[in-house]
Amino acid sequence: MPFSSLGLSDPLLRAIADAGYSTPSPIQQQAIPAVLQGHDLLAAAQTGTGKTAGFTLPLLHRLSQHSFSHNRPVRVLILTPTRELAAQVGESVNKYGAHLIPRLKTEVVFGGVKINPQMQRLRGGVDVLVATPGRLLDLISQNAVKLDKVETLVLDEADRMLDMGFIRDIRKIIAQLPKKRQNLLFSATFSEDIRKLTTGLLVNPVKIEVAPRNTAAETVEQIAYLCNKANKTELLAHLIKSGDWQQVLVFTSTKHGANRLTEKLNKVDIKAAAIHGNKSQGARTSALAGFKAGEIRALVATDVAARGIDIALLPHVVNFELPRSPADYVHRIGRTGRAGEQGQAVSLVSHDEVGDLRQVEKLMGSAIKRDQVAGFEAALVAPPMPPEPPRPPRQPRHNKPTGKPATATTHARRNPRPKPAA
Ligand code: AMP
Repeated sequence: MPFSSLGLSDPLLRAIADAGYSTPSPIQQQAIPAVLQGHDLLAAAQTGTGKTAGFTLPLLHRLSQHSFSHNRPVRVLILTPTRELAAQVGESVNKYGAHLIPRLKTEVVFGGVKINPQMQRLRGGVDVLVATPGRLLDLISQNAVKLDKVETLVLDEADRMLDMGFIRDIRKIIAQLPKKRQNLLFSATFSEDIRKLTTGLLVNPVKIEVAPRNTAAETVEQIAYLCNKANKTELLAHLIKSGDWQQVLVFTSTKHGANRLTEKLNKVDIKAAAIHGNKSQGARTSALAGFKAGEIRALVATDVAARGIDIALLPHVVNFELPRSPADYVHRIGRTGRAGEQGQAVSLVSHDEVGDLRQVEKLMGSAIKRDQVAGFEAALVAPPMPPEPPRPPRQPRHNKPTGKPATATTHARRNPRPKPAA
């Protein structure tokens, strides 16, 4: 599919050609037509997917279709978590808008630098404002900018903004915007907090989910060990010991699961610590410090707890349970094999999780190698029941066969999947 089939104007197509892009990335193919049509958008996509062009191009198209009033009120507001991302998005807006006539005015504002020059630059009016939430609120309180003519709000890397504690600022900013507007939300992951934010913000959003290009999904060695749920702890301990893994990040889907696993690993002499939402900040920090220092061999985490932590270049990531959302899988394995380093992502997959594994493969568009570890093979039948105490002999006619073998599925049902951690 060429860019020219997406409905973008000629000046934008020229800018795309200048940038050297030949075909739209998957997120661009889906996002550009939706945004052009004025829909709200809920997009699961992280950096590297081409998401910035995915929202910038159609928004520039829409802006340039209408005449500008001479005082240039902000019509597109883009919120980002960090100054780096704000600067990057600002550059993209300028790059893709380079051939538009008349030129659009774009401004980037973030904290940590003097506010006065930003106030001056805003004075003449801007069409597109890229901002971090805290500084934008400061500017609003100083009457340096008004947001009552905003047509489109973009929340970029919304999960990071929430992790950084910006939720109240975001809500205050939203309260300044006209009720009727277009909303686009981009997030790598979807926690309960993000879901709460999207309810009430997005109206019938077009939903898009894509895996990142050229990232861990392609460079990390991924393997799924099919196994029995009951043997997972033993299997993990075996992998850590036999592979001599010194630093492994293990994901579980519940906080209790993280605690239980940590206890069991410590019992078999694998130094482990858990980090999750029920742990105090102090406990989390010390677990993380111990892990980084090499004193803790296995850090057991829930998705939410792991999100904010910065650990570079992990050699091993283990999915003790597969995440509910395939996008979380991509996020998890993105923690290994960064910057071309060798990394391995291992998933322990029990019978009831095979469907989840397929969902992950569907999202990534590639198959994950399946294997079994000798001694821990996934049983085709349920493990034998514990021996029952001897009973007095019965009459043979009462022993009717059921005709149903005890299957692994039966076993799985006795161990329902835990709910994901909040
Ligand atoms: P982003 O995910 O928005 O941070 O973009 C990641 C990188 O991909 C940026 O360096 C873009 O310049 C580049 N990019 C965006 N769209 C395309 C495309 N259609 N073809 C090739 N590269 C692209």
